[in-house]
Amino acid sequence: MDTSHFKQLLEAKQAALIAELQTVGVQDPKNPHDWVTTQTAEPEADLNDVADHTEAYDESRSILANLETSLNEVTAALERITQGTYGICIKCRQPIEVERLEAFPAAATCSQHTA
Ligand SMILES: [Zn+2]
Repeated sequence: MDTSHFKQLLEAKQAALIAELQTVGVQDPKNPHDWVTTQTAEPEADLNDVADHTEAYDESRSILANLETSLNEVTAALERITQGTYGICIKCRQPIEVERLEAFPAAATCSQHTA
């Protein structure tokens, strides 16, 4: 299968996700696969802002977690391209439908084996 088209899509997606991650967090220097929010858990001053702050912290953590999951999926898909296993369902080893890959280039499973 010609993976160069999907490689392009995935690399564009990867760059977009990293740019988005950088708006809410920083890459953990000890673990480049891990991102940490730049929102601190502990509010510094005004106690009236504690509830707001906690909400902002929880929100940025969940945004970060979602972006990180997507980034990991994209990175894993790029690794499968390198290994020559891209487009093969990891569950049943059958080719993944091209329409599915077009819609979701990071798909690791065919439409029968979605999580
Ligand atoms: Zn499958």
